[in-house]
Amino acid sequence: MADREKHPNTPRITKNARLVLDILRQVGQPLTAYEVLDRIRPQGITAPTTVYRALERLVECGLIHRLETLNAFVSCGREEVHGPSAIAICTDCHGVIEMQNDAVPGYLYGWAETKDFTVTSLTIEILGQCSQCRIKPEPNVDSE
Ligand SMILES: [Zn+2]
Ligand SMILES: [Zn+2]
Repeated sequence: MADREKHPNTPRITKNARLVLDILRQVGQPLTAYEVLDRIRPQGITAPTTVYRALERLVECGLIHRLETLNAFVSCGREEVHGPSAIAICTDCHGVIEMQNDAVPGYLYGWAETKDFTVTSLTIEILGQCSQCRIKPEPNVDSE
């Protein structure tokens, strides 16, 4: 299965979690829990708690990431399961680019260690405009 190859050695996930994961992978963009719920309804899942539980589990497994800035979730863009990622988020189209290595979180963990500080949560989100949105022309304004 392609998913197995993408994230080898991931724990088994429930059927509901699989459905949620498939939706996030198909969309390829961040979705809020409610947007996931809207898309999963045709599959017979109508309870928000079911979706929340599935999202939580997928975050734990490292198959998706929670984006604090958007209060949304996005499927992992890396081949392997990993710790915190650095993720750039386009504020126009909500497209995301995930950093493919642990250089930045690694640096921050190392720094925290030198301060004898125990990290319990690390979020690195970069906001801005992707190249597609940046080149979009301004809407034409009629001159008088
Ligand atoms: Zn990832
Ligand atoms: Zn964009």
